[in-house]
Amino acid sequence: MRAKVYLVGAGPGDPDLLTVKAVRILRSADIVLHDALVSEEILQIARPNAQLIDVGKRMGDRRLTQEAINQLLIDLAGCALVIVRLKGGDPSIFGRAAEEMSALSKAGIEFEVVPGITAAIAAAAQARITLTDRQSAAGVVFLTAQQATGKGRTDVARYVSQDCTLAIYMPAGQYREISSDLLGAGLTPDTPCLVVANASRPNQELLWTDLAALGSITAPESPALIIIGSVARSRSEALACNTIHTIEPSIEAVR
Ligand code: SAH
Repeated sequence: MRAKVYLVGAGPGDPDLLTVKAVRILRSADIVLHDALVSEEILQIARPNAQLIDVGKRMGDRRLTQEAINQLLIDLAGCALVIVRLKGGDPSIFGRAAEEMSALSKAGIEFEVVPGITAAIAAAAQARITLTDRQSAAGVVFLTAQQATGKGRTDVARYVSQDCTLAIYMPAGQYREISSDLLGAGLTPDTPCLVVANASRPNQELLWTDLAALGSITAPESPALIIIGSVARSRSEALACNTIHTIEPSIEAVR
């Protein structure tokens, strides 16, 4: 049998938001290479004798480079059958999956992508808002505030359109710049903004604000993202019933 690498989306944190397929593959993995964002509860789904490798971990002040991770995947395919590359959210959204897929293709290693729930979708669900709206938001743009090393900040203003929602990932430390860039691009100061930190996790935080005030908020704990646009308006009546009920069966029942 040939080795196969699965690029699996682990979703935003809540293990119940994994796909059935992700759970099944995780349970059959010989080796799991995971990002720092993947929660402990999710890692526990793997077999006790599976080897877990944290490739997001800092070693001193350095992380494993993307090239080193690509090479590790290739090397491991020589000594195990089921290798899972577990990524927070969805592998195709700011997950560097393109680089890993092309390294695996070049090395002739079989791979498959298993999608996951990306953080903005989970954040919207937790806040009981939608990312599009047929009256007011014709589309949604997934943006990162940070680009690859050396490329600097994203020019967020380029993506502004009056009837489009912006979902800005990795805003760390740049709330002031994002607010001023978007105001400069013509969005009004009262444009609704929602900052969601740790979506779907026990320490989740929702911060409802507007574009003018976004620049002076105290940055929440990471990971966090910002949803900007008319859809990001709180439905206070919906938020009054903010209890999370666990719906059975949970992942424990998934075969
Ligand atoms: N592939 C991931 C994104 C990886 S980039 C996905 O599809 O979700 C990492 C960024 O994702 C973080 O800086 C943050 O902006 C966002 N993020 C990931 N998990 C999150 C969570 N639970 N709550 C809020 N933002 C999250």
